[in-house]
Order: sequence, then C-alpha cells, then structure tokens
Amino acid sequence: MSTLEIKGLVASVAGKQILNGIDLVVRSGEVHAVMGPNGAGKSTLSAVIMGKPGYTVHAGEVLLDGVNLLDLPAWQRAKAGMHLVRQYPSEVPGVGLTDMLAEAYAARGRSTDSLAAEVAAEAERIHFPVALLDRSLNVDLSGGEKKRNETLQLALLAPKFAILDELDSGLDIDALRDCSRRVEDATNTAPPGGQPLGVLAITHYNRLLEELHPDHVHILVKGRIVATGGPELADQLERDGYEAFTGGEPEGAVEAPATSSLDDLFAL
Ligand code: ADP
Ligand code: MG
Repeated sequence: MSTLEIKGLVASVAGKQILNGIDLVVRSGEVHAVMGPNGAGKSTLSAVIMGKPGYTVHAGEVLLDGVNLLDLPAWQRAKAGMHLVRQYPSEVPGVGLTDMLAEAYAARGRSTDSLAAEVAAEAERIHFPVALLDRSLNVDLSGGEKKRNETLQLALLAPKFAILDELDSGLDIDALRDCSRRVEDATNTAPPGGQPLGVLAITHYNRLLEELHPDHVHILVKGRIVATGGPELADQLERDGYEAFTGGEPEGAVEAPATSSLDDLFAL
C-alpha cells in the first residue's frame, strides 16, 4: 500500500500565489476527484506535484511513501511512481510511442522484450487504432486519440499514482468511457508485484466520474479545498453549480490556451 500525502502546499507562478494551502491524502486503489471552476488552481496543483519548471513552492510537502517529491527533479518523481496525464498532451515529432515507452521501461529496470506485444494488447483494449502506433507521439491525433494514447501509456507504465488533469477534455463519449474504464480497472487490479493505482482526477464535470467512481470528492476554489465529501458532493455540484462553494463570486481567470510546443515539455 502506497500513500501520496500533500501537506500544506502553498505555491505561486509568475509572482502570483495560486495554491493557498492544500492538504490531501491518496492511497493505493483510491480515486480522489478534485473539482473546481476555471482558474481555481487545478492544473497548477498537478504541475507542482509533478515538478513542472516555473512554479515556486513557499510551504508544504508532497510525500510519496514518506519521500518528499518536491526535492526531486521531474524525471525522478516519475521514476518513483508518479504519472501525469496532462490536459493538453504534447505532440513530440520524431519520437515514436514504442521508443518512448522503451526508454521509460529501461529507466525503471524493466525488460523491453515483450514491449511490442504489450503495446499491441493495450492498444486493442483501449481501442487505440493499431495503424496509429507508428506515428510520432500524439502528432496529428484527434483529441480522443491523444487521450487514448496517454491512457495506454499510463496502463503500461503502471505507476503508483496518476494525476489526470481533465482527462475528459477533448473527448467524445466513447473515448471518455474507454479511458475512464481503463483507469478504473487499474485502480481495482494490481499489476504483477505492484499495487492498484491511486488516482487524483481533476475535472470540471461529473460525467468523468460516472465511469471513474471516486471514493472522495474535493472542491477546489481559489487555491483552497473548500469542501470534501463522497460522490454525492459531485452530484450536488452538478445540481447547484460552483456558486454554492464560491460565495457567488465570479469564476477565476480564463484558462490558459492549449499549447503543443516542445518548450511546454517538462524538463528532463
Ligand atoms: P485551473 O486548472 O483550475 O483552471 P490553473 O491552475 O491553470 O487553473 O490556473 C490558476 C491561475 O493561475 C489562473 O489565474 C491562471 O491564469 C494562473 N496561471 C497558471 N499558470 C500560469 C503561468 N504560467 N503564468 C501566469 N499565470 C498562470
Ligand atoms: Mg486546468
């Protein structure tokens, strides 16, 4: 059993404090949904946990089984068992999916002998067209294909914890169902020698949670968790909107636009 513990996390970007003290504990096999309006700090939370450059942490810790991830570069956080499915997956021209996975397996000391077969089996399971497996990573894929591709990587790498930043954005209903069911399966079934996946699922909408059943729902407003409950909290949100939790104030800033440029990739 692994534990991801976020304690008193305060962080800023571009001189502006966005996270104002976040506390969260996720254990293996659990699904925690973090819901919040635009600009609440959801993507910032995922970026700070994973070590995206440009963010300053002022206080707090992010502990993976007691080890403070904030002291590690991004690649070591991934190696330690963290995985992020980003809201807008990057296109990486010239790098194939299997090449990227082979590097990731090698970094984890895993054999790549049966990688091609594993990729093919997982592609079939998630309904990712086999004809697209030879493309450069995410290049010229539709929104749904990108998220299937990202979910395929998540399933094969079998991390301890996954952060899904709006897995549901840019997806049609079928892709949403396939991706969220695959993640749900990973939370219920441990890989050989491993543990079931723990998930922090960031989303605006309840529809993701109809397939990916959260054990706990947290509402993030202005960089703080203002409410925590069970799945019924997401239902309440669907009914009443965020206004009940934001005190009637307008939503935060407009969401940053999609980017697919290489400079958006995490530092290695
Ligand atoms: P959410 O994902 O909840 O919509 P974000 O975490 O993306 O919110 O953004 C929270 C706030 O931080 C917003 O006001 C956004 O404009 C700001 N922000 C995020 N990233 C940057 C950045 N790189 N530079 C400046 N402001 C940023
Ligand atoms: Mg976001």
